[in-house]
Amino acid sequence: MYFDHASTSPPSDSLNRSLYELSLLSRYNPSSSHKEGLELRKRLQRVRLQVGKLIGAPEDEIYFTSGATEANNLALQGLCFNKKGHILSSAVEHASIEEALVFLESRGFNVTRLDPKNLTNKEIVLDNLREDTFMVSIMTVQNETGENYPLDGLGKALSKRGIIYHRDSVQAFGKIPVNVKAQGIDLASFSSHKLGGLKGLGILYCRKSLGIHPLFFGGGQEKGLRPGTENTLGILALGKVLEERNLSSDYLYVKDINARLRTGFEQLGGSLLSTPQASPYILAVSFPIPSEVLLTALSLKGVYVSAGSACHANSGKEARIVPFLENKELGRGMLRFSISTDTSLKEVEDMLEILSATLKELIRYL
Ligand code: PMP
Repeated sequence: MYFDHASTSPPSDSLNRSLYELSLLSRYNPSSSHKEGLELRKRLQRVRLQVGKLIGAPEDEIYFTSGATEANNLALQGLCFNKKGHILSSAVEHASIEEALVFLESRGFNVTRLDPKNLTNKEIVLDNLREDTFMVSIMTVQNETGENYPLDGLGKALSKRGIIYHRDSVQAFGKIPVNVKAQGIDLASFSSHKLGGLKGLGILYCRKSLGIHPLFFGGGQEKGLRPGTENTLGILALGKVLEERNLSSDYLYVKDINARLRTGFEQLGGSLLSTPQASPYILAVSFPIPSEVLLTALSLKGVYVSAGSACHANSGKEARIVPFLENKELGRGMLRFSISTDTSLKEVEDMLEILSATLKELIRYL
């Protein structure tokens, strides 16, 4: 029983069945000038168009990368290349933003990290701008709790001030509406494997006139912004995923599953850490058992979840959101359940039964 889709959402059976055919279609080099190369280039362009349609951008502003970690680094470091001054971000960003910010600080940039409580209010974000702020980078959906930070109107307000607006929109991709043009976003990062695509493929949306600097140099692919032969199989697989997805019906389905999880957890004495406004794809909950103990016990019974985020799991660090919980004690027992359209109600009921029995067993030892 897999409840860890925010770490990676496994490819569907139908995508897995298509992979052989997609592999044949993707086997040449899209930079080759012969017929096969040109044909593959066209196929990649079609996927660029699909991604652009999903996020409200023209296809020539879509760049394929090796993942969202790279897209985030390219956005931040690429923009900072010939700038100095202040960056406004949040204290609950993914490691690929946070660690890039730490690096930029070591290069002389100043960074303010906003408390997540302030990310629901555009005015507070604007109040924290400084004279020398040149970039705001705030995630769209927090990966540990699913908290959603729409910040309506922020993009327009920033663009009036000439400040670049980047959003790490990985956990929103294909799940929560993103429209980069309507929202005044200049740079946005996405990842294919969080939506049931293959790993090793990210996307950077970069507004045309922005002129960010590449992180490395090579054969000029992706208009020189991200050289290196493209992950052609990953890109064609993403095209197939996007064909099969329907943002609004998927959302409604997942919302129903989320509602069942919420009541189930509450009945078992869990404290919900994700607000009702959070993305329904992620639900953080705390039980009075240390996360690692409960996670391991569940894993032994075939229920797979995360404690916070998978990226932190190996670092021994607590989830980024924990210092900002009203009751920090709840952080000790925090688990993240994350779902997809592949999660069935039956699976949820079975999992709740196993969770209930496991809690009963473990609580005896406390
Ligand atoms: N940002 C967020 C919010 C994420 O959840 C993740 C994946 N854990 C990433 C960035 C990095 O994505 P990738 O695995 O494609 O490098």
